[in-house]
Amino acid sequence: MREATLTLSKLCQPDALPGELSGRCSICGIREDGMYSREWLLDKTSANLTAIFDLTEDTVCRCCVAVWREPKKWHRAIYASPRGVIFPVISVESVTDDRPTWSQVFRQIPIDEPRALVLTTDPKKRVWPFARPSTGRSASIYVHDPSRGISANRLIDLPTLRSTLDLIEDLYTLGFSKPAISESLFTAPFKHIQTIGLARVAELQEQLATVRRSPEFIPALLAAQKGTA
Ligand SMILES: [Zn+2]
Repeated sequence: MREATLTLSKLCQPDALPGELSGRCSICGIREDGMYSREWLLDKTSANLTAIFDLTEDTVCRCCVAVWREPKKWHRAIYASPRGVIFPVISVESVTDDRPTWSQVFRQIPIDEPRALVLTTDPKKRVWPFARPSTGRSASIYVHDPSRGISANRLIDLPTLRSTLDLIEDLYTLGFSKPAISESLFTAPFKHIQTIGLARVAELQEQLATVRRSPEFIPALLAAQKGTA
């Protein structure tokens, strides 16, 4: 397992109370004092154990313990940084003062800020242990979307993510559905294609062809919202 210094759980629960053991965290890999016993944390109903735990380690760090014990709070979309934690939402209809959309968040990620991101469409599943913190122009995002068969880390380039999001939101605002943007603009109703113009649609389709293969495409597609244009 990787050696870690900064972890999602440390960003989420920096003030978690320490335990009495020393060792290496069976979840995030960090080595420090103030650990808890792994046996104490787990019960027989805990699922997906071999994927989440390094079973050669008997201890779990205080921060992972704190996140583990509050599944209702942490089994969802997360943007964690030293400034704090927010729980972004996909659609504008769900926005509240402290829960912006991913579309807003993606446009505001500071390049030099350490952060850990989980973009999930399924809050039932515990995916935070898989998220990897990152800093700089490349950001690691754990994307979990069972409807697309995706559950993996993606290393994305932040400026490319923003330009991909701009393109997808323009198309979405123009009236193309997310499936059409994802597969082919020519699957849209012919009347709609005629309104926009066949040549223009072909041009947009070509622009999309390269973008669709990029690691930024799915996070941007999931996040995309219709603008007012
Ligand atoms: Zn840990």
